[in-house]
Amino acid sequence: MAMTRAVKKGLRLAIASGKGGTGKTTVTAALASIWSQALCRPVVAVDCDVEEPNLHLFLRPVIRRAETAKLEVPMVAEAALCADCAACRELCQFGAVTVMAGKPLVFPEMCHGCGGCLAVCPTGVLVAGSRELGRIEEGATETASYLAGRLRIGEAQSPPLIRAVLARLNKVAEPGADVLIDAPPGVSCPAVTTVSGADAVLLVAEPTPFGIHDFELAVEAFTPLHKPMAVVINRSGPGTPELLALCRGHNLPVLAEIASDRTVAETYARGGLLHEAGAHYRAVCFALARSLAELPQTAREAAHA
Ligand code: SF4
Ligand code: SF4
Repeated sequence: MAMTRAVKKGLRLAIASGKGGTGKTTVTAALASIWSQALCRPVVAVDCDVEEPNLHLFLRPVIRRAETAKLEVPMVAEAALCADCAACRELCQFGAVTVMAGKPLVFPEMCHGCGGCLAVCPTGVLVAGSRELGRIEEGATETASYLAGRLRIGEAQSPPLIRAVLARLNKVAEPGADVLIDAPPGVSCPAVTTVSGADAVLLVAEPTPFGIHDFELAVEAFTPLHKPMAVVINRSGPGTPELLALCRGHNLPVLAEIASDRTVAETYARGGLLHEAGAHYRAVCFALARSLAELPQTAREAAHA
């Protein structure tokens, strides 16, 4: 009888930060470049920083497929049929649909695509239309599969496109592949939407006064999501002891410290990645990848200790 072996589910890791410029994308790119070699597992690098995607600048993927992502929004089919019941207006929390002089009026740019008004409209006046959110690109580098969202210029809402990227990920990731997601910076809806779709979170923090302040905001924002979290300190310097103390206070393991090092800066300036800055940094990246792969298990054991 043929035996089928269950494929172990891969890790889905969000790499996030409380603010932009901490080195979140450079850490993601370095990990994506060495992950399959360090762990002998396929990996997908995903850019969910859809307002300013730049992971491709570091990874230089070959793009094989691009498609337009759309959000289902209501449109008015035949205004004269409106029963003026106001059910659509009362339901919509975003003021994206109203009724004036017995005629429905839709503001598609304000719509979040929940579909509620379409469901409650008793006459079928409202029907499904669409609004373009942006593009989803698929491709590959020599070491990783690649997926990214790119928000349409003028589009105000990035969470719907982030959700579309994560939904696409479920279709493109090969079974058992790990996923490294470059999250949007900050702690507002786009970052929380991205982190919510992950199994674990790596916070990249910078030991400067602003960096420490925003790191605390990130810990506050992501802790309620109950994901295993760990920290990489980037550009380690005089503020590192304070950051380490904060991590201890929050029980957050610090998996790597990257020095504020001229060699690293010169490597970045040449378009290189962290693991290409010398044997020490290559070892740091490999050790970090192995620690991250164990993070959910380590967090479970710590919770039961
Ligand atoms: S789909 Fe939802 S968010 Fe959009 S207009 Fe209708 S009720 Fe409002
Ligand atoms: S729910 Fe439909 S019928 Fe009622 S006011 Fe809105 S568009 Fe008109």
